[in-house]
Amino acid sequence: MQPTTQTQNFLNFINGKWSQSDSSEVIESTNPANPAETVGYVQSSTKQDLEQAVESSKNAQKKWKKLSGAERGNLLFKAAEVLENNIEDIAETMTREMGKTLPEAKGETNRGVAILRYYAGEGMRSEGDVIPSTDSSALMFSKRVPLGVVGVITPWNFPVAIPLWKMAPALIYGNAVILKPASEAAVTAAKVIECFEKAGLPEGVVNFVTGKGSVIGQGLAEHKDVTAVTFTGSNATGNHIGQTVAARGGKYQLEMGGKNPLIVADDCDLDLAVDAAISGGLKSTGQKCTCSSRVIVQEGIYDQFKQKLLEKVNEITVGDGLKEQSWMGPCATKSQYENVQKYIEIGQKEGAKLIYGGSPVDNDTNGYYLEPTIFDQVETSMAIAQEEIFGPVLALMKVRTVEEAIELANDVEFGLSASIFSKNIDHILSFIDDIEAGLVRINSETAGVELQAPFGGMKASSSYSREQGEAAKEFFTTYKTVFLKG
Ligand code: NAD
Repeated sequence: MQPTTQTQNFLNFINGKWSQSDSSEVIESTNPANPAETVGYVQSSTKQDLEQAVESSKNAQKKWKKLSGAERGNLLFKAAEVLENNIEDIAETMTREMGKTLPEAKGETNRGVAILRYYAGEGMRSEGDVIPSTDSSALMFSKRVPLGVVGVITPWNFPVAIPLWKMAPALIYGNAVILKPASEAAVTAAKVIECFEKAGLPEGVVNFVTGKGSVIGQGLAEHKDVTAVTFTGSNATGNHIGQTVAARGGKYQLEMGGKNPLIVADDCDLDLAVDAAISGGLKSTGQKCTCSSRVIVQEGIYDQFKQKLLEKVNEITVGDGLKEQSWMGPCATKSQYENVQKYIEIGQKEGAKLIYGGSPVDNDTNGYYLEPTIFDQVETSMAIAQEEIFGPVLALMKVRTVEEAIELANDVEFGLSASIFSKNIDHILSFIDDIEAGLVRINSETAGVELQAPFGGMKASSSYSREQGEAAKEFFTTYKTVFLKG
């Protein structure tokens, strides 16, 4: 257990020890509901810190890969148990650090427990195939083997689930990992690392180095001994990391932005579609990569849909995520808060009609609260229809037919998640066929991911590799093809 004080100062976790960085700087993490409140401090680490972590990971991985999958799995089961026993504290830290409401933070932490258990079980599953050889006296088989050291670079919006859905598969298949979390939610991430420590993972198998993306993230991307880098975050950062890792021949996986459409057909269940637009678009203050930011509605139902949407959005309560009555918390950071307001201004200048919200919410603590915001008469050429806003802003667009809706839905650079609300099987089938998205959802909101299914996007949303479920095995392992002749 590392020494903590009331303000929660977190060190790096390298080679099984909580250690101070070489640097004299620390990074402060504050509460977006009350920016004067410090949630904790983490290290602003240096390249030397990272070097120690890589060295430790390399050594540890040599022994870790020799354990059986079942032995590695038992340690992940223990980590799941520790996480489960600390849900209240970790979820509360998450809410204080990045603003999502406490029920959402608990849901995410519970998801983390389930992820660990799922991959713990993977330790007992098949590692390769027997392949018939043309030589009848030979045995030929493929054997999955770990990659080595994996760098894990994560964003702030899911500070428990995203690190875990990358770390757990990396670990179960025999890799050592170095986690570099987003600084905005690094205190929550440090508490996840404590769970691995308490579960008794061998020293060096999980290392944790906090710091600037341009130093530690970049360092992981460049390091020749970091075989693979798995990244979730913005497109600008992801594309840069992809190029850096590719240039040295490493393996990489990028999950990035979205501009997810929710199509509402004339023949849908209207209440279901309205609820999905509210929940998919505005939960987590619109800060999910899978949130529904464009709502494309067929003209026959447009007015009814809009009216019901306005009634429902009016019921939303905005406030500190720790308070039971708050349905939507603050934007996670000052820069998010300012950026979303910039888009609200741009939308109005571009000629979209602001029909709900659009302003900061007055409060006593200077929290980064924004009203849920709805634009009507949005054209596909507008920035608010094309760019990821990552805030509580819905863009309504009207179309004549479902074919036109699908065309409009595809008219963006992203392709992460997409939904249609319809009872017509022909509409549903053409949506499944023609929509350009990795996650295709029918009569269900765009956000929502089951951990045992492949997760990822198309087009600019991803590097086309997939996370989660069986797909994770593809990324975190490679094959040896063995030809054995007696
Ligand atoms: P970000 O790109 O700013 O940061 C992500 C991580 O990259 C952080 O840990 C950051 O420190 C690090 N980083 C920054 N500069 C770096 C560099 N030069 N080299 C290496 N690492 C660097 O993203 P964010 O603001 O934390 O997260 C929001 C973004 O994440 C949104 O675009 C959202 O859509 C995306 N996201 C995508 C998914 C998905 O699965 N597709 C899930 C959640 C979030």
